[in-house]
Amino acid sequence: VIYPYFCSHCHKKIQDAADIMLIENALSRPYCSEKCIVSYHSKIVDYFEDLENSIRESNNLFEQDIFSEVFDDNKIVQSLLARPDEVWLDVSDLGEHYYFLFKEIEYKGIRLNLIGISLFYFNKPSMLLFHTITQHQMLLNLYRLGRKVDFSVDNEDSTIVNEDTNQESDSIDKNDSGIDPEILQALEKKKSEYLADFLNIRSHNDIAIEKFHLYEKYTKQVLSEPDEVFKMIDGDQDQILTYVKSFLDKGQIFFYIVVCLKVEEDFRTEQDVLIPIITFPSTDSELYQRYKLGEKISRSLRN
Ligand SMILES: [Zn+2]
Repeated sequence: VIYPYFCSHCHKKIQDAADIMLIENALSRPYCSEKCIVSYHSKIVDYFEDLENSIRESNNLFEQDIFSEVFDDNKIVQSLLARPDEVWLDVSDLGEHYYFLFKEIEYKGIRLNLIGISLFYFNKPSMLLFHTITQHQMLLNLYRLGRKVDFSVDNEDSTIVNEDTNQESDSIDKNDSGIDPEILQALEKKKSEYLADFLNIRSHNDIAIEKFHLYEKYTKQVLSEPDEVFKMIDGDQDQILTYVKSFLDKGQIFFYIVVCLKVEEDFRTEQDVLIPIITFPSTDSELYQRYKLGEKISRSLRN
């Protein structure tokens, strides 16, 4: 079947898939042209402007005359997009990814903060929905929504072993993965340790373990498009990578967490291999905090 594509704004059929314009990784919302991209988002642009006005009015946060000079300076706005000091990501209930950019500049001897809200496509801002300038720290803090993200660290090349946990013994016997059998044995031990920890700290009100199999389908997406990745060296001196992604299912937000062991270099492909140790869904934000293991590294946008 050849599936048809229609512009999300004008609904025109896009004949050649190569002509589809996408501006977000989080959503596959196709557009036929830049004009349609801008029109589609015009209400959101208005919304963020109104929001700013009402925040400024209710908190008495007004700026000096210099504001409009900087606001209209395209070079300054471009520098916010190209080299922000800070980026925060907030995900709406529908899964839309809003990125909040911050940059401090000095203009005619005055310290100013640039704030932008943008959509992102492959780690780069793709559409600026809103920007403003302020000298008020309070306004700045109000826009630090969601969580801070770090694009500065490039993820190392990694391949993912999609191991079916029900066939662990099979994979040891056949050793299809090309992984040292000794490592696989140590892996069994590690898996039971991590499982024991998990059972100890999880809440009884969380998603029932009997239902975990219903969530297994999310593993691949968590690994390929995580919201956050954490890295640590555990007690066995092994590298542990923890991938986290939040989802919305039937109106409820849950996290899906995949804790992986990173094995250096598969001897056949000479690539690093990730082996899931424990994967689970959770609606408990406290548990999610506990699984921020080690230091945060960048989102991985590789497939
Ligand atoms: Zn269109």
